[in-house]
Amino acid sequence: MPATHSSTKVVHAVCSHDCPDSCGVLVTVDTLTGRAVKVQGDPAHPVTRGFLCGKVAKYLDRVYSPDRLLYPMRRRAGVAKGPLRQGEEAIAFERIGWEEALDGIAARLGAISGEHGPESILPYSYAGTIGQLGYGSMDRRFFHRLGASQLDRTICSTAGEAAMLSVYGVKLGTDTEDFRHAKMIVVWGGNVHGNNVHLWPFIEEARRNGARLIVIDPYATRTAKLADWHIAIRPGTDTALALGMMHVIVGEGLHDAEYIAKHTHGFEQLRETLPEYSPQRVSGITGIAAADVVKLAREYATTVPALIRVNYGVQRSENGGTAARAVAMLPCVTGAWMHRGGGLQFSTSGAFGFNGTALRMPELMQASPLGREANREARTVNMVQLGAALTELSDPPVKALFVYNSNPAAVAPNQNAVLRGLRRDDLFTVVHEQFFTDTADYADFLLPATTFLEHKDVQGAYGHHFAQLSQQAIEPLGEARSNVWMFGQLGQRMGFAEACFRDTEDDLIDQALDSDHPWMQGITREELERKGHVRLRLPCDEAGTYLPFSGDGWFRTPSGKAEFYSEALAARGQEPLPVFVPNPESRHTAAAQSYPLEMLARKADNYMNSTFANIPTHQAMEEAKSGVLEMNASDAAPRGIADGDAVEVFNQRGSLRLRARVNLSVASGVVAAQLGWNKLAAGGAGVNVLTSERLSDIGGGATFYSVLVEVRKA
Ligand code: SF4
Repeated sequence: MPATHSSTKVVHAVCSHDCPDSCGVLVTVDTLTGRAVKVQGDPAHPVTRGFLCGKVAKYLDRVYSPDRLLYPMRRRAGVAKGPLRQGEEAIAFERIGWEEALDGIAARLGAISGEHGPESILPYSYAGTIGQLGYGSMDRRFFHRLGASQLDRTICSTAGEAAMLSVYGVKLGTDTEDFRHAKMIVVWGGNVHGNNVHLWPFIEEARRNGARLIVIDPYATRTAKLADWHIAIRPGTDTALALGMMHVIVGEGLHDAEYIAKHTHGFEQLRETLPEYSPQRVSGITGIAAADVVKLAREYATTVPALIRVNYGVQRSENGGTAARAVAMLPCVTGAWMHRGGGLQFSTSGAFGFNGTALRMPELMQASPLGREANREARTVNMVQLGAALTELSDPPVKALFVYNSNPAAVAPNQNAVLRGLRRDDLFTVVHEQFFTDTADYADFLLPATTFLEHKDVQGAYGHHFAQLSQQAIEPLGEARSNVWMFGQLGQRMGFAEACFRDTEDDLIDQALDSDHPWMQGITREELERKGHVRLRLPCDEAGTYLPFSGDGWFRTPSGKAEFYSEALAARGQEPLPVFVPNPESRHTAAAQSYPLEMLARKADNYMNSTFANIPTHQAMEEAKSGVLEMNASDAAPRGIADGDAVEVFNQRGSLRLRARVNLSVASGVVAAQLGWNKLAAGGAGVNVLTSERLSDIGGGATFYSVLVEVRKA
């Protein structure tokens, strides 16, 4: 795969940022200097198709940023934890070597475990890298062997995952390349143009062949502005719209009775609830005209093939799991799964079968003090509730926090509680990072991390069906080190004798690929090294088409069918059928009397959550939206707010200073602000001072999009 030229070589890597596209990346490296000089999308990758998004097209600005954290550092004695301005890092931290850092951290973790028990140590990580090794391998071994608290990694997608599992028993979806065959594409709660951009050419191809693009989103994203029809639904009301569509489809006999009879379970129970979701009632809940509910339902049910791309916006509220369930049921009502270019895509990740057990070795917990002395597993902490974990948890309290692949000071909800916790003098905090993030400012030890150009990994995707190998393109900058190296070294220093703490990246890749999953059979490291990407061995029909849920054998639910009615949810005391329940913070509840505006805590198109928010080229692309509260004129005028005014946005959890941008991005009653770094914001606070730690109804996910606020002129 790697080609060589006179003084450059081209290395195949994979973008490991938290994005469905998992692009194949060709990195051109100057062989004399060892410096990467160009990154480009792999033209041979069937989904990447030779281009990268705006974020990663400028990736070398990030890799070679003068602000990279390049050496291990330790907090200077007597320096309080808290926000640092750029350039103040040297005042707060002193440079040390890796030996000293690893020895110091191992000694401190050992002492804390001895005094308070291993569960007083909490790892905190998410998808700063989604490579199999970087996301979860040696780190998990380390914390399992330690007996540390386990982290429930819920902040992004677990409500939607739980929804898909409750309906289908497995997280599969329509092939990305087959979007080109659709005649109607509904993008529901997603911004394809902003954060799934490699799907866009397939959508455009479908549109050139006559497909309509409909976007359902409370915010006028770039994708919504390019759609044939943007339906500006009120936040948190997707369940009502999906059920209203079913009301029309079933009421008018547009459902696929044959598919329903053969492949679904609980249709009669569902049908009994549908009279409650008349277009008129749904209109009152969603803010969508009743005639439009009818029109959407008819168009969806009568266009063949019709395809839904449901994304993460739907699930991030208290009723978000149910909402994702209801949307996921629509192709079962119409039988859209039977047609190439029909069906639904939430995530394709369930098609991959990497051997996570071999990578993470949960059995090591048995050798931890907890396993040996109490013969039990460590407790689990939901990452959404980090603030409460750091400030309220007892038995034992969290005494050490180890952060990697994440920036919780900016991205975790209820930010004021999180920061109160991070500020604790008695909390020992280690942060493994590429930059001096908001979280780094609270570290006792700060360790430099590699970018995906600087280490080797193997990766799946949640927006296509190709396994890929990411080669190390350049030497790590400064003394940056990968997660695998760091946790292996720490394990050895903790005295863990197991040989698995000495595994190399190649060992781990081989273990990840040593899978009995039928769709991974025969995919080896050697093949991936040779080809860069390999398509999963997906089961196909006689025409060679991958058509999930088009026949028996696909469904892994207890009934073996798609479940409208879930006995498993009922057994857990949850609603077995989708039912619309207003979110606790929404215009439908009494809380709206104090805080009448629904706020969308949005992700920026050109950042990845808080990643890239400190890079000047990326900041320039977001200039118009950063530090801004978007609001409708109908909400601004009664508050005496004009475009450009300084405003305070506040609720019971916190307040934020922003500039008002009065526009049509949001409907009446809704405001929107972007996520970024706290210390780069004018008031030093990020949008998550306003969000809550409440969890979604199923899946225990985050609820970033059900937040009530009030706004006043500052
Ligand atoms: S962030 Fe997404 S679209 Fe951009 S290069 Fe990475 S995988 Fe591709």
